[in-house]
Formats: sequence, structure tokens, C-alpha cells
Amino acid sequence: MGMRSLEEVARERLAARAADGLLRTRTLLDGAQGVHPVVDGRRVLSFASNDYLGLAAHPLVVDALRKAAREYGVGSGASHLLTGHSRPHRDLEQALAEYTGRPRAVLFSTGYMANLAVVSALLDRHDAVFEDRYNHASLVDAGLLSRARLRRYPHADAASLGRQLSLSSERHRMVVTDGVFSMDGDLAPLRELRAQAEGAGGAWLCVDDAHGLGVVGPTGRGTLEVEGLGLQDVPVLVGTLGKAFGTFGAFVAGSEALVEALVQFARSYIYTTALPPALAAATLESVRVAAQGEARDRLHAAMGRFRDGAAQRGLPVIPTPSPIHPLILGGSGRAVAASRALLERGILVPAIRPPTVPQGAARLRISFSAAHSTADVDRLLDALTAVLS
Ligand SMILES: *Cc1c(COP(=O)(O)O)cnc(C)c1O
Repeated sequence: MGMRSLEEVARERLAARAADGLLRTRTLLDGAQGVHPVVDGRRVLSFASNDYLGLAAHPLVVDALRKAAREYGVGSGASHLLTGHSRPHRDLEQALAEYTGRPRAVLFSTGYMANLAVVSALLDRHDAVFEDRYNHASLVDAGLLSRARLRRYPHADAASLGRQLSLSSERHRMVVTDGVFSMDGDLAPLRELRAQAEGAGGAWLCVDDAHGLGVVGPTGRGTLEVEGLGLQDVPVLVGTLGKAFGTFGAFVAGSEALVEALVQFARSYIYTTALPPALAAATLESVRVAAQGEARDRLHAAMGRFRDGAAQRGLPVIPTPSPIHPLILGGSGRAVAASRALLERGILVPAIRPPTVPQGAARLRISFSAAHSTADVDRLLDALTAVLS
């Protein structure tokens, strides 16, 4: 019997996914990202974007992109180690080092690639990597790609991590965690993780603060600022530019030696085309706007109004310090029905289902932006009350 055709295998897998009710579709947007996008031809009120500071279509950021495109063109033309590294990249790296209070930063094309880099450039099959069970998929893939021994500890459970570390005899150990968990919006217990990483023979701590940088902490410097931790505590910090900073790309910030090691050894840095320089110039502007803090104040005002209103109305929202607020509904069917009913009222709130979240923990994932007005928040509260009653 010959091998089955590609068509046949693909169709069968799709049919199985559909039978489980887990087939996903892509929502088609027109116009700029924002809180009132046009979705499938109709304007809606969106609580579904990671554009937390409303910078994705900010006039100053758009102008910076245009201006730099006229000077630098669109494509970067090559990888950073060949001829793709230009002045806007260098300026943005310096600005990100300053923003995070670290000696040096290096740009990556995506957060996914930055995560592949930090784990696989520093660890190999003699080493071990310890990850929170709820870590972003890119960190899990990074662990697998590195060929280090991958161990996962229960979500936010520093004591379990400590037990795993004390049983490990690998040469080097790295503990890797999201700063803000992307489906729950809660913060990693970084002080406790650090305490465990310090004991038990030592481990390096790496934080991916994709959802924390720009939005949490007294000046928006992220989860490390919330916990008062610095370079000595957390030597590896990953940030992404496609969320609060509103553009595209990612970076790793750390010591001179760490960053130089990534430049020299990280395959996801070396073997890929550099970000367009104009995008780096646009991001330089968005980092500047983010650092001013007004957008963050507006974001936190919207979040506060929602939390107060939800508590008053008895909505089962889990309050978090981040822009991500889950409303756990249990079964997938219930979450999908609630999301559909909201969309009928012109409000976009995604339903998140297993396997992205654990069985029985399907939810609405509500994310806030500096661009949400008080009227937008009140409209959401009214709609949730109607739909869930
Ligand atoms: C979004 C995200 C990434 C991936 O970043 P991209 O730049 O979109 O590839 C990595 N880690 C976390 C925690 C994220 O939320």
C-alpha cells in the first residue's frame, strides 16, 4: 500500500479538529488597528487587541514610519551581521537599553524568535530549562529546540520549581517565565522564583515581559519594576514591540556579554533578515510616547472603571494588574456563545478555549487600551450584564 496523499491527511486532520469544535477562523479587519475597527465590513467596539497604549496607529508613530521610509526605503536587504544593520536599529537598541535600565539590548524580528534565541543560544543537551506550565508557546518551543532537558512546573508554583531544581544535576539551569501570563493576565511571582533560582545550586532567570513592558509598574517598566528586580536578579529580559509599543519586532536586554553572545550564537538572529529600518524608527517614536506615561494613565483609568463596574454588577471577572482581564465561563460552548452574543451587540471580545487554556476554563479574554473611553467601558459592562444574565 502506498503512502496516503497529503490532501487526504490534511483533510482528515481538519475534519477531526472541526468535530471537536476547535477549528479557528481569521477575523478580517479593514483600516487601522484601534478600538473601533471595521470587522467583516462592520464597525465594532473591540476589546481584543494587544495595542494597549493605542500606539499602533498613533499619528507620531505613523509619521516617523513615513519619514524613515523615505530615507531608508522599506526592506532592510540583509541580516544584521551582513548589511542589514542600520542607524535606526542602533538608535532603537540604545533607547530600549535605556528604557529597561540595562547595559545593552538587541533587536529581533519577532518575540517568537527572541525566545528561541535566549534559550537555544545559551543552553544545550547538557543543560536544563524550567518553565511555567502556562508559558507562551514560543518559550516552550524554545526549550524543545535547545535540546536542554525541559521541565514544566505548575503555574506560578515557586515551591514546585524549587523541588525540580533541587533534583536537577544538569550543568546549567535556566528558569523561564512569562512576566504577565497572556491568557490570565496575572503576574509571575518573580521574587519567589528568584529566591528558588538562587538556592538549589543556582539557575539563571529569564523573563518574557511581552504583556508587561509599557503597561505595568509605576513607570510602565514592566513586571520587574513591579517586583523591584534588576539585572542581578533577572539577567535575561525579553520584550516585544508588537504589543504595548504598537509596532512589530522584539528585543532582549541584558549585560554586554549576554547580548554579544546572542549576536554571535543565536541562529534566529543570525539567519534572518533584519527588521525594516523604518519600523525601528517608528518604534523609537513609540517608545518615546510610551515613556511619557499619559497613555498608560488612560489605560489604567479604563481598567479601573471596568473592575469597579464589574464588581458592582457581580460579573465573575478576575481582577489583574495587567490590561488582560479573563472572565471564566467554563465550557467552550458557553464562552463561544457569549462572544457571539457580544458581537451581535457590536462588541468584539474573543472566546479562548482549550487547548489554549485548561479544560473547563474557557473564557472571554477582555483586553483594554488607552484608547477606550469611559463610554466604551460602560457599553461593555452593560452588554456583559445582558449577555451573561
Ligand atoms: C506575543 C508574545 C510573544 C511573541 O511575540 P511576537 O513578537 O508576536 O512573535 C512571545 N511571548 C509572549 C509572552 C507573548 O505574549
